[in-house]
Amino acid sequence: MEIRSMHFKARAGQKLADVLLQQNLKKTKSKFVDKRAHAIEKLDEVNDFEGLRAASQAVRDRVLDNLDLWLERFEEEATRRGATVLWARDAAEVCRLTVEIARRHGVTKAVKSKSMLSEEAALNQALEAAGIQPVETDLGEYILQINDNEAPSHIVAPVLHKSKEEVSALFSRTHGLPPKTDIHEMTREAREVLRPHFLSAEMGISGGNFLIAETGSVALVTNEGNGRMVTTLPKVHVVVSGIEKVVPTLEDLATLMRLLPRSATGQSISNYFSVLTGVKQPDESDGPQHMYFILVDNGRADLVGSEFAAMLRCIRCGACMNHCPVYQSIGGHAYGWVYPGPMGSVLTPLFKGIENALDLPQASTFCNQCGVVCPVRIPLPDLLRKLREKQLEARLRPLGERLALQGWSWLARHPRCYALATKLAVRYLRWLGGDDKRILVWGLAPEWTAGRDLPAPPGKTFRELYAARGKA
Ligand code: SF4
Repeated sequence: MEIRSMHFKARAGQKLADVLLQQNLKKTKSKFVDKRAHAIEKLDEVNDFEGLRAASQAVRDRVLDNLDLWLERFEEEATRRGATVLWARDAAEVCRLTVEIARRHGVTKAVKSKSMLSEEAALNQALEAAGIQPVETDLGEYILQINDNEAPSHIVAPVLHKSKEEVSALFSRTHGLPPKTDIHEMTREAREVLRPHFLSAEMGISGGNFLIAETGSVALVTNEGNGRMVTTLPKVHVVVSGIEKVVPTLEDLATLMRLLPRSATGQSISNYFSVLTGVKQPDESDGPQHMYFILVDNGRADLVGSEFAAMLRCIRCGACMNHCPVYQSIGGHAYGWVYPGPMGSVLTPLFKGIENALDLPQASTFCNQCGVVCPVRIPLPDLLRKLREKQLEARLRPLGERLALQGWSWLARHPRCYALATKLAVRYLRWLGGDDKRILVWGLAPEWTAGRDLPAPPGKTFRELYAARGKA
């Protein structure tokens, strides 16, 4: 998928002015935030949520400390059970390997279940270019595909930005049927359209929530039955997964599964949870004749052992974006690449270069909600801060901003000047606020007041109040 993060600010402005999108984004709270809070509350009654977070972090760190060894173990076990493990350095290799597999098995159509990595690699476009028809079967991804291959706006709920009415009109246009308003009827309609594809496709492509090293299996966490059909009906199953998704044992998987659905959708367990191991055996009724794993680096190996290694713990639950005031205000498309919200603001600069994602590390209020809810305790605000530092060091931020920060840094190291400067600044802001005590136009930083009024500082500076307290 082409990166568009360079224009984050402009897109964010458009999204803020989009009335329909703003209405649709209100679903984030009831659909995710409230449900997660309830699920965690229930969990806390029998389990220590913070203890589970620590255990989940430990599982992920244990893998990342010896990623090469766990990947080798995974390859050995998966191969022993009849699967083929292939390695892709980048997106182009993902596409090349998938097309080669398809050609080897005479595939003309591939059904897909949700995979963010296939978005990363722009796999659908590559398949189409090779004459292979990709059919998205996750309901959200299917809606995006028939809507001119629109990009997902959320990693768990790809069509969060759309209303039921918009989907109804799209279905009617695409399927040539009268528009439906009942969501169950719309789902049934999509199922009827998709069912023949499951039966005629020669290849199924899935992502992988986790890869289990001790058994060579892939774990899939879904809420629709499509994942099972994609992975068992066609004769070929291709799993496209990032190398960081490996976990050592089934017990480790169980630890992470106690937090993943709760953090993602507020469910104690997802509707479907599959652990798939190897090709179909003579005594089994379902399963593919050929199973391939394409394990993808695409920038991940560079993070191992780096100051950003914690980001590889991510289990793609989406909780950070659901709780982010920036994501809640603008949705996912403004972020310009596959991953939105705080995790995207870290991953996109790391995978695509900080020079190609200039505003993303700034797209945070540093309220730390993302850090608090992350089930594997990724310190997202710290990582964003580090990226900001890197941008400054590389002189990638505008001159005015760099000068302002240099000035601030100088003042912070000279307490008397700092005291004088803050005193003058407070007076200036109070004067700007006038009788209304609201700053409508702040001459030095108009962007701060372009979309909202800024309350004028009410009284004395912190230092003045502190000094007065000392005297009292
Ligand atoms: S960074 Fe944490 S909260 Fe965000 S998607 Fe990843 S695991 Fe979930």
